[in-house]
Amino acid sequence: MANEGETNDTKSTTSKLHIFFFPFPSKGHTIPMIDMAKLFSSRGVKSTLISTPHNEPSFLRSIERTQKLGFDIGVVTVKLPLEKVGLPEHCQILDSTNSPDMINKYWMAIRMLDKQLEKLIKEHCPACVITDTFLPWTVDVAAKFGIPRLAFHGTSHFAMCALECTRLYKPHLNISSDSEPFVIPNFPGEITMTRAQLPDFIKEDTEFSKLYIEMMESELRSYGVIMNSFKELEPVYTDHYRDVLGRRSWRVGPVLLCNQDTEDKLQRGTRATIGEDSCLKWLDSREAGSVVYICFGSRTDFSASQLHEIAEGLEASRQPFVWVVKKDESVEEGKEEWLPQGYEERMQGKGLIIRGWAPQVLILHHKAVSGFVTHCGWNSTLEGITAGVRMVTWPVAAEQFCNEKLITEVLRIGVPVGAKQWMVKVGDSVESEKVEKAVKRIMIGDEAEEMRVRAIELSKIAKKAVEEGGSSHSDLTALLES
Ligand code: UDP
Repeated sequence: MANEGETNDTKSTTSKLHIFFFPFPSKGHTIPMIDMAKLFSSRGVKSTLISTPHNEPSFLRSIERTQKLGFDIGVVTVKLPLEKVGLPEHCQILDSTNSPDMINKYWMAIRMLDKQLEKLIKEHCPACVITDTFLPWTVDVAAKFGIPRLAFHGTSHFAMCALECTRLYKPHLNISSDSEPFVIPNFPGEITMTRAQLPDFIKEDTEFSKLYIEMMESELRSYGVIMNSFKELEPVYTDHYRDVLGRRSWRVGPVLLCNQDTEDKLQRGTRATIGEDSCLKWLDSREAGSVVYICFGSRTDFSASQLHEIAEGLEASRQPFVWVVKKDESVEEGKEEWLPQGYEERMQGKGLIIRGWAPQVLILHHKAVSGFVTHCGWNSTLEGITAGVRMVTWPVAAEQFCNEKLITEVLRIGVPVGAKQWMVKVGDSVESEKVEKAVKRIMIGDEAEEMRVRAIELSKIAKKAVEEGGSSHSDLTALLES
């Protein structure tokens, strides 16, 4: 990707290289793509992020400090043609309340961005486009201009390989019930899953299945794939991805580590609904390594009764906690029926509830925090790994059940809460006793201590990977010079 006639010095090697970064417009996809654009610009690349006007203010906030430091990074916009596909203007981001019809229309609007992308490429002449795997059609747009497209995968090699081997070899068709385990074929490690844990798009023929197949095919036609992971985290699966599935890939993560400063960490995603001061002050008052952080990503929508079970489980575990709650629509203003009576009074000083958006990376990296109850979204998983915390895994949708296996069975830094069913919206599937038991398991006793040691070791390796000479740093150099 480097321009001809340049020296080996990284900064000058890439000084003329201009790259477009085009994420899918949802938090779980924009956050790592922005981090990646920042990372590339810190290595001398001119990075241009493509945003929708709706997301532009948060993109600009996230890159403000990088710009001030003198790195070449900016934002251009494309407008989703929502009206053309029959969607209201407020439907700028998909969420769990959208009907299947709305979701299909949203995907149509996304696909219709091709002409706007062409116009931007004509105007700005980038040398390459790095686009979200959810935008497979961008490989053809890039080809029109004779420039390479790299796909960006916001997940693990482990999950990519597990899903692809399941899709290709269909082991779930040879079992008699949804709960009967099967071994994932042609996949290292004798990993078992059940049909109930598989995403709909793998086990059924859904609209998303067609897109998924298109994504996989477009990756093979792309210049390669960039992964937010690091070699030492999942070496067997990194090799499998390349050697067995035939993908040319580079690992450049954890990309979140480009946010060294507190201000950077605060500006990721959305403005936090709790002041940094009050949150950090609360954590400062806790003993080192004593707090459990509970958050289920940007999209997971719990029912009031499930939240009630979590509240009771946390109280019974007797561990100090910070719990992020994305309000359920059924909760009326001022009548939070998901909280047991008198809960917040009882939890004064023991638990902090954040309603809305939390500064997750800042919290996870606080010395008081050593446990994380997570839905296993890949960003959260990697953030937990980088922070060196032990995890209670509570997968819900997407590829999260695969990430759970990586955390609990391969890395052995967490325990499952016992979620059994893949679903888009969370139901009443996990009782308070299970929450209590899993939280105690990661925080108290010999097993917890063993996990703590492994988690801390892994976080050190993660940090080394992005330092000069580290595996991800070298992989990025190799990509820029390829
Ligand atoms: N996040 C955050 N505060 C919140 C909720 C989420 O900062 O209150 C961030 C989190 O740090 C992560 C991203 O949002 O970077 C969620 O991505 P992930 O892949 O974990 O899950 P998704 O939201 O895509 O299901």
